[in-house]
Amino acid sequence: MVAPYFSSGGQRMLNIGCHLSAAKGYYHMGKEALDIGANTFQFFTRNPRGGKAKKVNYDDMKLLIEFAGRNNFATLMAHAPYTMNACSVEPSIRNFALQVIQEDLSTLDNFPNAYYVFHPGSHSGQGVEQGIALIAEMLNSVLSDGLRTTVLLETMSGKGTEIGKTFEELNLIIQLLEQKEKIGVCLDTCHVYDGGYDIVNNLDGVLKEFDDKIGLNFLKAVHCNDSLNILGSHKDRHACIGKGNIGLDAMSRIINHPILRKLPFYLETPNDLSGYAEEIRTLRKLYVE
Ligand code: FE
Ligand code: FE
Ligand code: ZN
Repeated sequence: MVAPYFSSGGQRMLNIGCHLSAAKGYYHMGKEALDIGANTFQFFTRNPRGGKAKKVNYDDMKLLIEFAGRNNFATLMAHAPYTMNACSVEPSIRNFALQVIQEDLSTLDNFPNAYYVFHPGSHSGQGVEQGIALIAEMLNSVLSDGLRTTVLLETMSGKGTEIGKTFEELNLIIQLLEQKEKIGVCLDTCHVYDGGYDIVNNLDGVLKEFDDKIGLNFLKAVHCNDSLNILGSHKDRHACIGKGNIGLDAMSRIINHPILRKLPFYLETPNDLSGYAEEIRTLRKLYVE
C-alpha cells in the first residue's frame, strides 16, 4: 500500500490522543481524534475480551493513513486484546496469543508504521522466570527484520501474577530477544505508580532507573492516566487526569519532562469523547512549547 509516512507528529506541540472505539472503522477514528484536538490515538485491534478480529477493510485503512499524514498525526497505537496471554499455563491460550499477535502484526504491516502494545502476560503460578521465557519465546517467533510495526511491552501494575511490574522484568524479556530493533516499552503512568514507582515525587529518579535497568532508547510511548489507588497498591484502576493520586501537577511535569516530552501520549482515562477533549485541552495548555 502506498501512503505517506506518518510524521513524528508536531515538532513543537504535544503529541496526544486517547483510546478510541474502532467500531466505526479506521477513518472514523481519525476524524474523531481530530475533532477532539488529538493528533494521534489508540485502538483495539479486536474485541479486547474476545478473540476473533473483524475482517480488515483496507480501503478504510488507507483513508485513515492519508488523513493521518495530511494532519500530521504522530504514530498510531494499536492495543492487543486482554485475552492475549503469552505466558499462560494453558498451551491452548499460549497458541491463541501467538495467533493473535501474528494476525495483528500482519494487518498492521499495511500501516506505514505503528506501535502495537500488549500486556506481557500473567504467569498464573508458574513463576516469573518461566513467564518471562514464554513471553520472549512468542516474541522471538514474530519479531523480524522486515516488520514495519514496533511492538511495545506495557509496564504493568503487578496485580495478580502480572509480569512487567518492574523494569527488571521488562529488561529480562528484552534481553532474551534475538531481534531488539522492533521492540520497545510503553510506560503507563497509572500502572508504574500502582507498581511502586514514585513518578509524583521522584520522576527523575524513576526515569534514571528506567535508563539503568532497560535503557531509555526503548521508551517509545506513554499511557497517560491518573490512578484511583495509592503508590504501590498493585491495583490498576485508572482515574481521569487530575482526579486521582498522581494529580495534575505531576502530570504536567510528566508531559513536559525533557526525556518524555517528544513521545506520543495516549489517554486511557474513564471518559467519553467530550471528557477526552477536555483532558486534551487541559494538557495542551500545560505543555510548554
Ligand atoms: Fe494496556
Ligand atoms: Fe495502559
Ligand atoms: Zn490499566
